[in-house]
Amino acid sequence: MATLFTKIINREVPAEIVFENEHVVAFKDIQPQAPVHVLIVPRTEITGLAELPESGDHQHILNAAKEIASQFGLTDGYRLVINQGEAAGQSVPHLHAHLLGGRPLNWPPG
Ligand code: 5GP
Repeated sequence: MATLFTKIINREVPAEIVFENEHVVAFKDIQPQAPVHVLIVPRTEITGLAELPESGDHQHILNAAKEIASQFGLTDGYRLVINQGEAAGQSVPHLHAHLLGGRPLNWPPG
């Protein structure tokens, strides 16, 4: 069965898509934790970072993050987060990176 994010990628579930190419699709998080909160999702259905093959989409995710940060004018800085596994807060079993920006971001995150 397709994941929620595959349904968004296939336009079966609505979302505000802000970037896409042949490798990844990026859309606004439905519960934003910052003024800019974008999810960057590989088109390939991979459960999480632990399942990402060594020759996987890492570079495409990072390239998209840079591009989207530039698109949103995040010149002061931004954060890229991947939650791996339920204990880390992963709730959707389709690899995704959170791009957060537009406000001061505390470190450590807690
Ligand atoms: P995770 O907790 O797995 O790292 O992140 C999943 C993210 O997906 C959460 O931040 C959550 O708000 C977001 N999310 C869950 N359902 C939807 C949805 O239907 N549409 C969008 N745009 N985001 C969603």
